[in-house]
Amino acid sequence: MGPSRVEEVLLAEPRGFCAGVDRAIEIVERALAKYGAPIYVRHEIVHNTYVVNDLKAKGAIFVEDLGDVPPGATLVFSAHGVSKAVRTEAAARGFNVFDATCPLVTKVHVELAKLAKEGYEFVMIGHKGHPEVEGTMGQLAEGIYLVEDVDDVARVQPRGDKLAVVTQTTLSVDDAADILAAVKRRFPHVREPKQQDICYATQNRQDAVKLLAPQVDVVVVVGSRTSSNSNRLREVAERRGTPAYMVDSADDLQAAWFAGRPRVGLTAGASAPEVLVQQVIARLREFGAVSVRTMDGVRETVRFPLPMGLGDKSMAQVPSTPSSSR
Ligand code: SF4
Repeated sequence: MGPSRVEEVLLAEPRGFCAGVDRAIEIVERALAKYGAPIYVRHEIVHNTYVVNDLKAKGAIFVEDLGDVPPGATLVFSAHGVSKAVRTEAAARGFNVFDATCPLVTKVHVELAKLAKEGYEFVMIGHKGHPEVEGTMGQLAEGIYLVEDVDDVARVQPRGDKLAVVTQTTLSVDDAADILAAVKRRFPHVREPKQQDICYATQNRQDAVKLLAPQVDVVVVVGSRTSSNSNRLREVAERRGTPAYMVDSADDLQAAWFAGRPRVGLTAGASAPEVLVQQVIARLREFGAVSVRTMDGVRETVRFPLPMGLGDKSMAQVPSTPSSSR
């Protein structure tokens, strides 16, 4: 076994917050400022323990069931999106609703509704039980089939011959490509999304880890267990042959991970705040790190406008198309 001290930290670029997460957190904070506590949020606004605890301390109450929200309350839908049934129930209960669904998830919902009207059925590539998948599947009453892996593709039995593919936004780019190839082998005429559904932030963070992993001995991903895109970053590093660990905070770091591994790569999922990355760096300095370097990478400029009623003039002028950074 080599030296047990960390020598160098290499930071992935880009890492951490994406435009959809930034916007979702800002929606809750602005709703709290405008209406006062409590503000109810359906599901964790984004999948990060620190963010959720911070908003709880400021007066947000997180619920899974709309039955737990009192009449007349202000309710925010999380960045992952909601099914039609949830939207209808919230309207029926008369809540003051703000929708923090990421515009890139909404884009998938809109495309789905448009094609469904044209008579399409859908294969959805995604992870069962993830709230985004529940929200997207729940845009339609029927005719949408979830596939989680290549084997699932053989089990899809569409009733008609018009079939389109949609995907969760935070998948492994490589796994999704393999599954899509299997879908196309089974259904050669399947319609693909015009622009892939996997979002720019997922793509950029995975690309950055692909560059980072071969240059280091171990990769640390800051992100919560429930965060799909953070889990995918850990997998991307491991598939490049570099051991990788996910941490919710600096307290999770274990000295044993760095025994004989002096070069540490560090990244963060799209829902993990930079303050946690800085705390991890501080702990890695205690473990011996003397050099902290940031890799060159794509500069993301995507920003999304806030919903009506919570935005301001400067935000309303920000273009919403993410194409320049995809
Ligand atoms: Fe939107 Fe992508 Fe961020 Fe999810 S990870 S909130 S889809 S930008």
